[in-house]
Order: sequence, then structure tokens, then C-alpha cells
Amino acid sequence: MADPRGFLTTDRQLPERRPVDVRIQDWQEVYQDFDARSLEKQAGRCMDCGIPFCHQGCPLGNLIPEWNDLIYDRDWGQAIERLHATNNFPEFTGRLCPAPCEAACVLGINADPVTVEVAIVDRAWEAGWITPQPPESLTGHTVAVIGSGPAGLAAAQQLARAGHTVAVYERSDRIGGLLRYGIPEFKMEKHHVDQRLAQMEAEGVKFRPNVEVGVDVTVADLRRRYDAIVIATGATAWRDLPIEGRELTGIYQAMEYLPPANRVQEGDFEESPIDVEGQHVVIIGGGDTGADCLGTAHRQGAASVTQLEIMARPPQERPQAQPWPTYPMTYRVSSAHEEGGERIFAVSTQRFVGDDDGHVRNLELSEVEFVDGRFEPVPDSERSIPADAVFLAMGFTGPEQGPLLEQFGLTLTERGSIERTDEYATEIDGVFVAGDAGRGQSLIVWAIAEGRAAAASVDRYLTGDTNLPSPIRASARPLTV
Ligand code: FAD
Repeated sequence: MADPRGFLTTDRQLPERRPVDVRIQDWQEVYQDFDARSLEKQAGRCMDCGIPFCHQGCPLGNLIPEWNDLIYDRDWGQAIERLHATNNFPEFTGRLCPAPCEAACVLGINADPVTVEVAIVDRAWEAGWITPQPPESLTGHTVAVIGSGPAGLAAAQQLARAGHTVAVYERSDRIGGLLRYGIPEFKMEKHHVDQRLAQMEAEGVKFRPNVEVGVDVTVADLRRRYDAIVIATGATAWRDLPIEGRELTGIYQAMEYLPPANRVQEGDFEESPIDVEGQHVVIIGGGDTGADCLGTAHRQGAASVTQLEIMARPPQERPQAQPWPTYPMTYRVSSAHEEGGERIFAVSTQRFVGDDDGHVRNLELSEVEFVDGRFEPVPDSERSIPADAVFLAMGFTGPEQGPLLEQFGLTLTERGSIERTDEYATEIDGVFVAGDAGRGQSLIVWAIAEGRAAAASVDRYLTGDTNLPSPIRASARPLTV
């Protein structure tokens, strides 16, 4: 145990966010570095519980008390080893994960949980401790991974390190999935993705961007060329809002808005084709994707931004009905929320109203209440708010219907995801599914855990045995009530 009294003598401290008026002038990450001394003190707060519930909170099974102990002892080199023992990409989760491990931290019962991950991996990159780990020999087996998000990348890295020859096919022009074109630069600068990709290339992974499987190369072709296939194509079919006025211009899906904004940072355009400078923006959907639209709109100079959420405002504190160690639905203020805009809860959009040119100008909403399992409009609560641009951020229904699924001829579950066994195998011999394509819309930490576990199944399929870790079964679910 790092410091037996650490949790009593040291308060939880988080890396500071840069001042709002400074950070909305640029696209760089919001958080400032955490100095090593403060981090060591934070690590000293970990109680090294006999039963570390944080392990259960994290689908990767991250060995959190072990890193904390190592950091407290200033053994940063060992700490990154322990971090990498369960997670291929701690620099992604450290920046982006909503941290179910923290919700499960025993200190969270009556005090503030412990946190440290990202500083360890950033320091390890800076110090040059993270180097390629190519396999000692090749097995002669070949694997195609379709989709280059966190699930596909984790599967590819594990399989390449196990000695298989791995190619990652990606329909976009750059590798990274939602890490690249969904998540904005201010949450994670893309050089973090690039340095991991360089490591993976040095380990032997081949990247094939600009190749849509089912279109540019057929599934039959891939099946001929590879001994196994991992489908990691994500849950990219977005939920729409088919109400009056939906056909007006100026109404976009979040994933139509965010990718070009990210491309500006990649140097593809001077200005995004969807730029909301001086406009009144409304975002429909109160989750992470909506918050990413919010931060992007502020950086583009929107006149106002309103974020609508159909659910009631969650409580400030953990509700009694969602006890520790479950992940509680509490009121969260992300960095984007801190930057401004209005959040309106318990409302539903009734219609969009346009001008003579067919462009959206207003949005009419009404308050709702939850009655008999449904949201019902509250009588006489309708009102109109200005809306020159509307972004729909209402989640994703599952993998897209299209040539890939047609050519595989795979069965979908009732919830629209690709059917698979608990070992990630589909009904087709040698074809596996990992990440949001099999789980439905989820989180990066789950995608990485699935990629690692699917890689273990593929390795066993190819060689009859595996030493690769398999952190979760495909049916594993987060700890909720
Ligand atoms: P994806 O990341 O979706 O990658 C799938 C890839 O497959 C895509 O690049 C796609 O182009 C490619 N593909 C699809 N079809 C084909 C084909 N036929 N041929 C070749 N390639 C194909 N989670 C968090 O934990 N924290 C966050 O802060 C967070 N923010 C988010 C913000 C946004 C805007 C969105 C939309 C999601 C966010 N999420 C976040 C969720 C998280 O990004 C996903 O759960 C995760 O990326 C899923 O990983 P994946 O590898 O399964 O799929």
C-alpha cells in the first residue's frame, strides 16, 4: 500500500483545465499536464483494497492499485509496464474514458476516488520507454481486421505481437475510427493516435486506408486471402429525428459535423464546410457526442449554443438507487459545458421551422414528463428557440446495413448488432466481431477490451491455443442497476 494515510491527508486533485477564454481560441487539449510530485501524492491516496473493486469497474481489468503503488514509489518505468499489461492504448482511455473504475473505487463510497492513468503513459512516451514489440517469429497465419477504431487497433496489435501477419482495412482516408474523426482535437490531439500507429507499423501491422470492404475489395476476396477476419466496423448507423421540417437545410447529424471540423486540424481544409460562426446552434442530445458538437461550435464562434436533452436533469450526487460500485447517472459538467451554452433538460423537439429559402431558423420544443414508460409532452409548454444550425446527437442504432453485411450474410441480433458467440465468433468459420459492431454503441475502454479478447479467440482459432489475455466475454456488461 502506497501511503496508509494518504486518503486521509490528501484531497483528490485533478489536472487543471486551461482557462476557458484561452482554450476556446484554439483546438489544443483542454487539460494541462499534471506535475510528477502532485501525481505521486494522488497515487498515495489509493488504499490498495483487499478486493479492488476498481478492477471490476474497468472492462480491461486495469491493475490500478499496482500502478498507484509504483508511482508513489517513483518507479515510473514499472508503472507503464503494469498499465500496458492490460491496456494497449492508455493514452486514449486516460484522456477519453468516463472512468467506470473511479465510480467503483472504494474511496468513492464516502470520499473522492483516485485517478492517475494519463500522466503515466504521457511520461513514458516522452521518456522513450514505449518502443515497438515485434514478435520473435511469425506464425505464417494471416488476419484481416476491418475497421481501424480502438477495437480493430487493439485486436491488430495483439495479433501482430502474437506473430500473425495482420492488415487493417479502413474505408476512411486515415486510420483511427472515431478516435480520428469523431472525437475532437480539444479532447485528444491526434498525434497521440499517430505515435501509436507508428509503433504498430514497426511491429508489422499493415494499414490499408481508403479501402471499403464490400466495395473496394469483396468479402469473398478477403476470405480467400486471410486465414481469419475480425469485423470491427463500429456502430455507425445514426438515429434520426423524422419530424416536421427535418428536410430543411442546416440540420445535420453530429457525425456529419464533427469529421470535417477534425479535418481542418489535420490540414485538409482551411475552414470546415459546416462552420457555425455567428449562428444560433441547437444540439439535440445531451451525451458525449452532443458535448463534442458544443465544444466545436464554440471554437467556430457560434453566437449561441443550446443543448437539449429529453431526460430530466440528473442529480448532483449519486442517487440512492444507483449505489456504489455502479456507474451513477449524475449531473456532469464536461469541459465543453464549462465553456458556455445553455443546457435544457426534459424537453422534446416537436418541429423545425424554416425561412423562405428552406433553411432552418427555429426549433419548437415542448417540455416532457415520463409517464407509463413514455415521454409525454406537457400541455401548453411549447416554445420556440432560434436555430440556424441543428446537430442531431441522439446516438447510434448499430452497424450500418450495406455491402459489407450483405456480402458476409451475417445475422443481426434483435438490437441490430452482429450476432456472435461469447468468444466473439460469428456463424461463419474464421470470422469474428469486436467493438461497437457487436456490442452496440459503447465506450473506447470496452472497444479496447473487446479487441484484446477477440484477438485471443482468433489466436486460439489459428493455433489451437493462446497466451493472449481475454479480459471480457462478449456478453459482459457494465455494472449498472
Ligand atoms: P469505431 O471507432 O466506430 O471504428 C470503426 C471503423 O470502421 C470506422 O473507422 C469506419 O470507417 C470503419 N469501417 C466501417 N465499415 C467499414 C468497411 N466496410 N470497410 C472498412 N472500414 C469500415 N467513448 C469514450 O469512451 N469516450 C469518449 O469521449 C467518446 N466520445 C465519443 C464522441 C463521438 C462523437 C462518438 C460518435 C463516440 C464517442 N465515444 C466515446 C464512443 C467511442 O468512440 C466508440 O465506442 C468506439 O470508438 C468504438 O470503437 P470501434 O473500434 O468499435 O469502432
